[in-house]
Amino acid sequence: MAPSSPLPSLLRDLITANHILHHASIVDGYGHISIRHPDQPSVYIMAGYLAPAVVSTPEDLIEYHIADGAPVDPNAKKGYSERFIHGEVFKRFPGVNCVIHSHSEAVIPFMVAGVPLKPAFHMAGFLGSSVPTFDITPLYTSTSQRDMLVNSVPLGAALASHFASPTSPADSALPDNLVVLMRHHGFTTCGQSIQDAVFRAIYAHKNAAILSNAATLRAAHGLGSGGLDFLDEEGMKGCRKMNEATADKAWRGWVEEVRAVSLYRNVMLEEEEKQ
Ligand SMILES: [Zn+2]
Repeated sequence: MAPSSPLPSLLRDLITANHILHHASIVDGYGHISIRHPDQPSVYIMAGYLAPAVVSTPEDLIEYHIADGAPVDPNAKKGYSERFIHGEVFKRFPGVNCVIHSHSEAVIPFMVAGVPLKPAFHMAGFLGSSVPTFDITPLYTSTSQRDMLVNSVPLGAALASHFASPTSPADSALPDNLVVLMRHHGFTTCGQSIQDAVFRAIYAHKNAAILSNAATLRAAHGLGSGGLDFLDEEGMKGCRKMNEATADKAWRGWVEEVRAVSLYRNVMLEEEEKQ
């Protein structure tokens, strides 16, 4: 590792991001976040087989090859079976440096109900006008265990393809879609930084909750289905720009929130404080 490598600070932030996502109900005992290795772009890093709330040291993290999802250390401890979600998004989009997978209880109802997830407010312009849905079911064979898990390179690649629009060049470094819904499962989002991806995961979840509340209000007032008021195209673009320029402020606040909760330990942060 070069002396100037950003790796230590990224590992510190990755540990804290696990806690922030747990604190915001984006992950519970399941769900995960990964980063691309800043010095080895063909490697990604994520927690081993641990609940996100208890990830606390760099030893809890595992490095994987993007090519096939194999651990860099063949003797690595057990990891997540769904790491292929992460590896295949990193493989398809070289500009993506962070991937998050969630079973958000606010987002899943949209797939169950067949209702499109659209941006309701200015914190969710990144959703765009149409959030694609990945359906794993047609990819199963007669012998598959139909558990909805994206636990192989082909399944991960199929999911990753939904981050590109049909007209996008195959070599685009960045995805056209920043959130992909996963039928009977949850959603995946990504970013160029941990901060961007965490922001999107949290506000995809909050946006879903707001839409559900709005639909409930309409129904309670006898206003019928439809009629929800979404951001327009220009609003989406403008809000996305604003969100990307201000995500650092929210991040700093979330870091302090989880530092104040004794459940969450980040040994790297604790060592920094001692210095
Ligand atoms: Zn999952």
